[in-house]
Amino acid sequence: MGVGNKRVKDYPDHVRKVRSILKPFIEKLLEDNPLTSQQIIEEVKKKFSKNCDDSVICTCSGGKHQSEWIHQTRWGLYDLKSSSKIQYEKQKKLYAKQTEN
Ligand SMILES: [Zn+2]
Repeated sequence: MGVGNKRVKDYPDHVRKVRSILKPFIEKLLEDNPLTSQQIIEEVKKKFSKNCDDSVICTCSGGKHQSEWIHQTRWGLYDLKSSSKIQYEKQKKLYAKQTEN
């Protein structure tokens, strides 16, 4: 009958929150030095340890069985890039503060 009894995208609030709370933090973090996504993920984990709950696994379509907070962190980086707050230097694999033109 139904399509399953659990909606896969119902992640708990404390994990979903990561996407928004990291934005001002990342902007500040990248002010001084560019970082790789892996380094950013480590900083987010240190800063928001309560929200970075490894028991919540990503079940989004195409999910890589990573922790959902890491997926939320990547979304947050995507949001910041889309709003031109940060930029990604593909060759160096570094995120940096968006330079003013
Ligand atoms: Zn996910």
